[in-house]
Amino acid sequence: MLKTIIRVSERAANLIARPSRDARPTLKRLATSLRRESARSLSILARRSADVYPVRELQIAIDNLTNTDAVVRRVCNSKEWIDAERSLSLIDIEIEHAMNLIRSGLISGSMDAGEVVLRTSNLLFTAKQKIKNEFNVITELKLSSLPALDPRRSDLSVEIEPHQLPEFASPRKLVLSSAMLMQIGQSLFPPERMIVGAARQIGNEISVKALFDVTGSANSSRVVADPDRLGRALIAMAESDTYFGLWVHSHPGSGSLSTYPSPIDTTQHADWLRDYSPNLVSAIIVRDRYIRFWGTALEAGDVVIEIEGSGIEVVSAEESVYRLAC
Ligand SMILES: [Zn+2]
Repeated sequence: MLKTIIRVSERAANLIARPSRDARPTLKRLATSLRRESARSLSILARRSADVYPVRELQIAIDNLTNTDAVVRRVCNSKEWIDAERSLSLIDIEIEHAMNLIRSGLISGSMDAGEVVLRTSNLLFTAKQKIKNEFNVITELKLSSLPALDPRRSDLSVEIEPHQLPEFASPRKLVLSSAMLMQIGQSLFPPERMIVGAARQIGNEISVKALFDVTGSANSSRVVADPDRLGRALIAMAESDTYFGLWVHSHPGSGSLSTYPSPIDTTQHADWLRDYSPNLVSAIIVRDRYIRFWGTALEAGDVVIEIEGSGIEVVSAEESVYRLAC
């Protein structure tokens, strides 16, 4: 009798603690997107010829994608209740796997591999935002920097021999139209406004397909992105097969000296590199239309800027500083 009462009260407690819906529908949609991505990446692999292309890196990226797909499907097919918390922790672990793969440098010789990992991570990130919105969950932002991963500690079930991977080829070109830069110049003032650009890479060329204003609260020393606007922009990027490739904000002051990133800017750039995009290019613009492009990808020579169209003066090609005609 006592056992029965305990069992009944436990069940009642579970019912009270249990949210009204589970996160399974969102995870199922995520599984469908991952399967679609898997088919897409396998078709890329099928078109590549092993002797002229770093196939091994693409295989590693697809292997990671398949692992993620399998984990998500296993949870979807289980009989257990899947609450938001459990779903979010599963998604975070899978995002971490994708980011570790990028940080390890093991796939840096293949742009396709990088794109597969990035798309995997963006699909996961989109599902995470949907679950957070649906269940009104506030998660802690990961602000600490993570150490570079030792490839031997990777928990991916692949054998990796870094010395056999080919060297990375020529740098990617971020092609920006002068008209778009002028649009940015005109929409980012008064200062401390912020936009993010949705980019797409085809071959060696990256182009910016759309711009999103994500300006959030500002004070005299800095501006932060509005989490809702940024979240919506990132979802739009994930849904439209683009990625977070450009971040521009305006500074008060004038002249090229005012376009240097502040310590807060460099920290923000590092956080976004880690969380969203390994190829992010950042830029700062001031009222008299000096604009400086900066960031790890530019400094490392992985990406170079190319301006298309007229009306842009090159102030310093070495420092990627330009001045717009208007
Ligand atoms: Zn700044």
